[in-house]
Amino acid sequence: MRYSNSSGDPTADLSGDEHALQILPGVFAESPIPSLITDKNGLVLSINHSAARMFHLNQRQAELAAGFYSILRDKRVSRDPELYAVIQDVYLHGNVQTIETNYLLGNIHRSRFVNNKNLFFRASFLPIRDSSGAVERVLIQLQDLSREKSARDALQESEASYKAFITHSSEAIWCYEMQPAIAINKEAEVQARQIANNARLVEANKVLLSMLGVESLDDILGMGLIDSGSRNYVFDIDFFVKNNYQMTDHDIVREDHRGKQYFFQICCTGIVEDGYLKRVWGTTKDITARKRYEEKLRYQSHHDSLTTLPNRNKLYSDMEACFEQRSAEQISALLLIDLDRFKEINDTLGHNVGDHLLKLIGPRLAAEMAEVPGTVARLGGDEFAVFLPRIRSTHQAVVFGHRLLDALAQEFDLDGFTTQVSASIGIAISPQQAHDHHELMRYADIAMYYAKSQMLGLSIYSPEYDPHSTKRLAIVSELGRAIRENQLCLHYQPKVQLNEKRCYGFEALIRWIHPELGFVPPGDFIPIAELTSVIHQLTAWVLERAIEQCKRWLDQGMSLSVAVNLSARNLMDDNIAKLVDRLLKKYQLPPARLELEITESSIMTDPTRALRNLNALHALGVHLAIDDFGTGYSSLAYLKRLPVQTLKIDNSFVRNMMEDLQDELIVNSTIHLAHNMGLTVVAEGVEDEALLTRLAEMGCDEAQGYFIGRPMAVVNADEWIVESGWVKQPQ
Ligand code: C2E
Ligand code: MG
Ligand code: MG
Repeated sequence: MRYSNSSGDPTADLSGDEHALQILPGVFAESPIPSLITDKNGLVLSINHSAARMFHLNQRQAELAAGFYSILRDKRVSRDPELYAVIQDVYLHGNVQTIETNYLLGNIHRSRFVNNKNLFFRASFLPIRDSSGAVERVLIQLQDLSREKSARDALQESEASYKAFITHSSEAIWCYEMQPAIAINKEAEVQARQIANNARLVEANKVLLSMLGVESLDDILGMGLIDSGSRNYVFDIDFFVKNNYQMTDHDIVREDHRGKQYFFQICCTGIVEDGYLKRVWGTTKDITARKRYEEKLRYQSHHDSLTTLPNRNKLYSDMEACFEQRSAEQISALLLIDLDRFKEINDTLGHNVGDHLLKLIGPRLAAEMAEVPGTVARLGGDEFAVFLPRIRSTHQAVVFGHRLLDALAQEFDLDGFTTQVSASIGIAISPQQAHDHHELMRYADIAMYYAKSQMLGLSIYSPEYDPHSTKRLAIVSELGRAIRENQLCLHYQPKVQLNEKRCYGFEALIRWIHPELGFVPPGDFIPIAELTSVIHQLTAWVLERAIEQCKRWLDQGMSLSVAVNLSARNLMDDNIAKLVDRLLKKYQLPPARLELEITESSIMTDPTRALRNLNALHALGVHLAIDDFGTGYSSLAYLKRLPVQTLKIDNSFVRNMMEDLQDELIVNSTIHLAHNMGLTVVAEGVEDEALLTRLAEMGCDEAQGYFIGRPMAVVNADEWIVESGWVKQPQ
């Protein structure tokens, strides 16, 4: 409610003439100003048409209202001391007063509560005095302020909510005013400089205070952008100007004096009027917590939780980043490391010990990386990888790989236990071998698998090891055809007993006469076939032919046996014994006439499984021999557990034995140790008579080699049987 005293109003003089009202009743009644007349006690005497309309009274209601309502007796007036004082001032002292109200005259008509909330008006009280100067009547003129009031209320409300919004916002809200305004037709750099100088903070909430580290708004109001610490802290001016005086979710980083980083996100709009930037309104959000959380998530998605080493994702992204940036000459290498027999450690010592070991591996590998930049990652299980983005040559990667193997071979202390681990490493080189990280991974994986299966420790990728390389695919698919189309045949090489000077059997060696390539040596296709399942078909084919041939010789009265080479994959095949059994039965060959040659490394791939299948073969009654003995890693003590009867000393030791004392020593001691274990010894690669004599002197049991007989087709073998004198002919 508003009051205004205007007792000095000159209109007061007019009010003295009572007769003027009597003379002009029509003027009062028809006046466009809503008006009422009360007597000196405040009782309403008359309501003009305009006032009746304002209160929504019809003619009759207006007439009834007169003489009914008294302002001075209105309870709500008497309850409001201030209002009551004003009204008293009018009626007692005859002063002119103006009030703004919504409830005065509320009960002007009994049947109707006229002054609802929407009705708000200004009432001017004009006392009319009698000749003695006492108040006789009061003319009340009304002015409807309802519309004004609701507009004012709405404005107040919006101002209040805007203030509340600013105060309670979790974001800093601010307004910089350009003092003076900045012409936007200048160059961007000039404008940016002027903004930096002219901007003054004119409005801000408490959030900005804490962001700027100040106590009160007074400390910063009027402050320039540069004073607030950094040109770009509140908003990035250069970007703002170039981006047409707008910024949406613009991220900035700020460091405190200790170097700790804080992250902010800014939205702001410049107010441009008449070609001048006047103000910038904006919000700044502290997104440090969110950034830290995102960083944590990113860390987790890039690291292995057990070892805290980078994981596969991180390795891939490091490789990708390197490949995108590197020059054409830059060579990179990926070394894929797989621990050998980690499963055994896990199974025998428990998962805790296994986990402990895995945790120690990361630092061991990382220690080797001190002067070589790169990434050490755990890919999962017992698989690790080292990515070297910049190496001088392939050779350097190999040397480095050996260093890693040596580092892993040092003992690990596992809370009281000490253990050693060996590993297999596969290396692939980019860009020479692979162009992207997928290819590099695949190639390193193939090389690793090859190193493991061949017990090499380390190997560099070669398309030959790759079951999917084009050359390999061609060979594998052609091999399948070669088997079906009879391009394969077996050659037979004699094996002789030295003391009896008698041939006791032949080794079956496969030959491929390719329609275009001609003779393909087994060394060119067996290792490829061994990497795929074609080897099963191939072995089955060789076994069947060899068994059939041996049976034929037996039937011809020749007491001979046949030897067939088995691959690592054949030893992993749990059906191998069944296959051999079926074929022996099919051709009715006594099992003792069949010898199976296996290499040490083929057993080491999965010794438990290999041993199970060897035992099954042994149970059939077939002979088992270790081929190429001396080239692998197995000890004689280990071999003792295998159900083998024969050792074939690799021809690389035998061939040079006469010239190389070391080789002779190896051959000699192998013969003795084998004999001590009850094994028969065969020397491979006997190329001359002197060697044969020497071997016989050394006590070697059997021999095989070009001097005795080369591998021969069946017809030639048959001739050799007759002519060589090594085979006792049937009577
Ligand atoms: P291996 O089982 O050790 O066979 C002996 C290899 O030595 C044969 O090579 C044979 O020709 C060669 N050799 C024999 N005597 C002499 C000699 O006095 N001096 C020299 N320098 N070499 C001699 P080949 O036939 O090229 O076979 C190579 C290898 O291929 C075999 O070594 C065997 O591991 C594998 N292989 C051959 N046939 C088969 C087969 O049917 N199945 C499987 N899985 N592997 C086979
Ligand atoms: Mg062999
Ligand atoms: Mg051999």
